[in-house]
Parts: sequence; C-alpha cells; structure tokens
Amino acid sequence: MDLRCRGVNLQIENFIGGKFIPPLNSKYLENYNPATGKQTSKIPDSTANDIQLAVDAAQQALPLWSKLPMAERIAWLRNIAEALESHKSKIAELESMDTGKPLSLAQRVDAERSIKNFEFFAEHAEQLGEMVFEMADATNYVERKAVGTVGLITPWNLPLYLLSWKIAPALVMGNTIVAKPSELTPLTANLLAEIVSSIGLPDGVLNIVHGLGPTAGQAILEHPKISAISFTGGTETGKIVAKTAAPMFKKLSLELGGKNATIILDDADLDIAAKGAAKAAFTNSGQVCLCGSRILVAESIYDQFIPRLIAEVEAMNVGNPSNEDTDVGSVISMDHMEKVLSYIELAKSEGGIIKTGGKRLRLPPPNDNGAFIKPTLIEGLEINSRTATEEIFGPVASVHKFSTDVEAVSMANRTEYGLAGSIWTSKPRRGKAIAEQIDSGILWVNTWLHRDLRTPFGGVKNSGVGREGGDWSLNFFSELSNICVKDD
Ligand code: NDP
Repeated sequence: MDLRCRGVNLQIENFIGGKFIPPLNSKYLENYNPATGKQTSKIPDSTANDIQLAVDAAQQALPLWSKLPMAERIAWLRNIAEALESHKSKIAELESMDTGKPLSLAQRVDAERSIKNFEFFAEHAEQLGEMVFEMADATNYVERKAVGTVGLITPWNLPLYLLSWKIAPALVMGNTIVAKPSELTPLTANLLAEIVSSIGLPDGVLNIVHGLGPTAGQAILEHPKISAISFTGGTETGKIVAKTAAPMFKKLSLELGGKNATIILDDADLDIAAKGAAKAAFTNSGQVCLCGSRILVAESIYDQFIPRLIAEVEAMNVGNPSNEDTDVGSVISMDHMEKVLSYIELAKSEGGIIKTGGKRLRLPPPNDNGAFIKPTLIEGLEINSRTATEEIFGPVASVHKFSTDVEAVSMANRTEYGLAGSIWTSKPRRGKAIAEQIDSGILWVNTWLHRDLRTPFGGVKNSGVGREGGDWSLNFFSELSNICVKDD
C-alpha cells in the first residue's frame, strides 16, 4: 500500500465519502512536533460546510451499512485491525511526532491499543446474545438498531487509541461516522483514513474532518442529522458539548477531566508503591486523564516514602522521544508547557515546596526548542489549594499527608472530579474497602492503568456522563426497541 502519510511537511486532507478532499475554504492549519518545535504538516481548517459534506456522505452510506449482517461488520473490524497491525510502527512513529511522547510508549500503548480496540469490539459484538423476555401471555423481543450518523470528538493525549475506542463500537453497531480528531494530533487519524480507504471500507461509512473545536467540532455538535455525540476532552469543553447537544436530544457520552488521588497506606510496600505512584503521575508526561496527580501518603510512613518517590521520579529519563531509553517526552505544545509552568508558579505562591523538577528542561538539538518539563513533585500545599484541585494535565503532582483512612477518603473526594484513583497497601481487602468509599468511576488497588476492556470506563461528578467499554459502548452506539408480541 502506498501511504501518502510520510509525516514530514505533509499536507493532509479531509476524508469524506471515501475520498481525500481539501477543505472548501482552502484554508490550512500548521501542525508542529512539540519535541522539536518543527512544523510537520498542514491540516484542513474545516468549517460547517465541510461537516455538511461529511454528514451527507455518512447519511448516504447509512442504509446499506446499518443493514449489513453483524457478522460482516465484525469482519470489517477484523480487516481494519489486520491492516493497522501491518502499519504498527508507522502508528507509533506518527503518534510520537504529533505528541512528543516517547516512541517506545507510543509502540507499547498507543499502537497496541488502537489495534486491540478493533479486535476487542469484533470479539465482544460476536458474543451479543438475543434479548427475549417471556411473559405468561406474550413474548418481548428486544431489537438493536444503529443510532444513525454519530459524531466522535477526541483529544490529543492518546489520539488513535481514543479515536479507535469510539470508532470500533460505532461501526460494529451499524452507525456511520463523522469524526474530528484534535487539531494538534491529526496524523494517525489520517493514517487510519488511508488504511480504511486502501482496504475498501464502503465510502462514507467513516468520515474524518480535521479542524478546530469551536468551528469544525461545534458544527458536528449542532448538526441535526448527527444523532449521537461521543466526546472525550476537557470538562469545560464538555459543558459546551452538553449545552449544545442536550437540547437537541442527541445521545451523549462525555469522558472528561480528572484530578485523581494515589493513596499510599501505612502498610504498603514502599518500593512498589513509589514505583506505582511515579508511573501513575508521570506516564505520558502526566497527560493521561487517569494520572494520579495528588499523592496522599500515610503520615507514619511519609518520611520513608518521599525519598523513595523522589528517587523514582529523578530516575525517569526525560529526553528525545526517539531514544530507546527515554521515559518522558515533551508535553503537547509550547502553549501547554506555559500553562503547566504557570501552575508550578501558582503552587509556589500557594505555599508549595518543589521537591524535584519545577522547571522547563532545555535539551540539546534537535530538541532545543522542545516543550519539555522536568517531572515535578510539590509538597506543603493545602488539599483545597487550586494546584491540588484543578486539572493541570502535565508532569506535576502534589504530595499530601493523611493520618487515618477516613481522612484519606475525605481528601481523595475533595475535588469536583471523580474519574480514577489507586490505593497501595499490603492488604488488598483493606484497599478495596477504601476504594468503595471514593467517588470515582475507576479505582485500582496495587496497580494503575490495568484495563480489561469489558469493564465500564468513565467518571462521576465533573469527570463525565456515561460509561464506555464492553457492553456500555455497544449500548451507547445502538438504539433498543422492545417488540411485545401477544400469544395467540
Ligand atoms: P479539549 O476539551 O480542549 O478538546 C477535546 C476535543 O474537543 C478536541 O478535538 C477539540 O478540538 C474539541 N473541541 C474544542 N472545543 C469544541 C467545541 N466548541 N465543540 C466541539 N468540539 C470542541 O481537550 P484536550 O484536547 O485539551 O484534551 C485534554 C483533556 O481531555 C483533559 O481534560 C483530559 O482529562 C481529557 N481526557 C479525558 C479522558 C477520559 O476518558 N475521561 C481521556 C483523555 C483525555 P481542538 O483540539 O481543535 O480544540
């Protein structure tokens, strides 16, 4: 296959109705590699007119696609997975170039999981049973149908991973798609478009439109023919999505921000817990919605734990994302770096003491203009401070002491978010009992980011509405009708 996506000074186009077409206004945005500061590509600066074309194409494809037998759609998911597999190293390379994340992480996490999402939903859909409910004098048949044309809007931190997590269940349930990836990370979405085009996925089933949130994204939210919106992104944008789509009675799934706690109990194995807390805080430069950016430590072990944690963090190699031994790459952009650095200044003004990190890291060429920040631990902040309650989404974590389990739970719950958290203890049952008291959608005991794709994924409070994963995704992307047939 001759993929045009070479990644350097490339001009990508929208993928609409099976064709790569320029934006109707002929305007393009520049896309940069944040680890070098160099421009990599130009992407369409699409508007509502391009979204209209994509919706038309998706609507045209809907009758045939939604009527295909499920087994055929499952086969398409497997075809896509297989084609992605043969471009696995390209996925990782483009993802690393767009985000500045280590190539090794992009291989291990982004590329692996993007393929797995298609394989998983193929297998999961295969296991869907019939839903029949017998009454004394009638039988109820629950029929599943596609929702229609659905809008998928995704962020920059795990670009193809999160996009494919929505595309796979939407496709398998018979929907046609208009998707808008983050304008900061368009390259792997474009690669996916090239792959589905090369394997002959019917035209218009998957449409990818590039551009900015307030223009292209907003046009997806507002379009009356788009019946469902699956959105992953920040809480403030989530409010706009809900405000626009809810009065139109669109189905809505909102996966939003987090400010997750990592709780180290007094009986934890301190070496294991220090490794776990460092990984939870700084994977992907702290730019995972599940990252544990508040580390709550039992008072009785605090003085033994903190030096271990600092040693783990300082051992993380921040560097050129292409190097094998790099653990932490750049953050997503210079603007984001400035935002994260401003939070470090805020932390200082709130009484925080920098235990390690705390500044921009200048690397040698070719990364001398890259957006690198040293992983940063801050002590001495109030649990209610802005630094400890607002989502920073960067390599910054605060550490806090607690004296009892009750206090740990109360501190963990003291944010507007409720996405995830982890508890570290030598007594898993004690950990589970504490997890049950934390207002979050996802909790781990003695592990982090350990995912079974059949389980529900999502947050409470300002972290979102609804769940993704397994049956929850298949249900979101389908409409159920109950047909009650009275016996003769
Ligand atoms: P944003 O909310 O800024 O953007 C997310 C997506 O929404 C982007 O594609 C963006 O486009 C688009 N968008 C922005 N404004 C609008 C609008 N008015 N209408 C429609 N679409 C719009 O999030 P980020 O990309 O900065 O991602 C980071 C955030 O995502 C963090 O808060 C993080 O916690 C959250 N997240 C949540 C996850 C979860 O599962 N709960 C997982 C991963 C991340 P554009 O890029 O052009 O602005």
